[in-house]
Amino acid sequence: MGAMAATLGHELNQPLAAISNYVAGTRRALAKPALDTQLLESGLAAIEQSADRAGRIIRSLRDMTSGSAVKRQMLNPNPLIHEAASLAMLGIDMAVAARFDLAEDILVTVDPIQIQQVLINLIKNAFEAMRDSARREVAISTYVVEGEARIRVDDSGHGIAPELRDSIFESFVSSKPDGMGVGLSVSRTIVEAHGGSISAWNRETGGASFCVALPLAGEAGSVPN
Ligand code: ADP
Repeated sequence: MGAMAATLGHELNQPLAAISNYVAGTRRALAKPALDTQLLESGLAAIEQSADRAGRIIRSLRDMTSGSAVKRQMLNPNPLIHEAASLAMLGIDMAVAARFDLAEDILVTVDPIQIQQVLINLIKNAFEAMRDSARREVAISTYVVEGEARIRVDDSGHGIAPELRDSIFESFVSSKPDGMGVGLSVSRTIVEAHGGSISAWNRETGGASFCVALPLAGEAGSVPN
């Protein structure tokens, strides 16, 4: 129950923070002498989308824990990746550069909301690790190795602390003062439930790499619906 509550809290934080941001923006727009109804409308639409996202996160987690039929779809992950990067960037108060090198022809069979949560966790962690870096660059790439789809997030941050190297994917392991240490353990649970694996290492040039491996759609090892 504790892990479930921590997970829900962690995953819902992002859409709730987004809703707060959009409400603040919409309030500012309302305070202007000349009402820009288009701006107000787009603020409300963004609030609606985030609330809908929160609902989908809850449903998806409930499905995962109750073992009910998972909602997997065969898809190319690129749109999920772009959207995850935009969502991870919301509310980030520093300049970061994101570079994408995505293969167009990769197909995986996944629950899109769950895999997107994994990507948001990885990209947000990358941003947070670069807070004190002179160069803040995240590169997100997808490619195929040994019949598996790989989604990799490389950053130019402080790298994985040596004492966390063996426990980074375990629950409640965090080096952040306000960290819950839940994101990576949830991410591993989700990826493994999809028949995949997740790994992390420090880059020779500095920073960390996180890599999600997923079976290609239709390949042996791919988890059917
Ligand atoms: P939290 O972000 O709440 O600490 P996570 O499970 O997402 O929880 O991450 C656990 C820990 O792993 C972090 O506290 C951090 O020390 C480390 N970590 C995660 N991503 C990175 C990264 N990109 N670079 C360096 N360390 C990282």
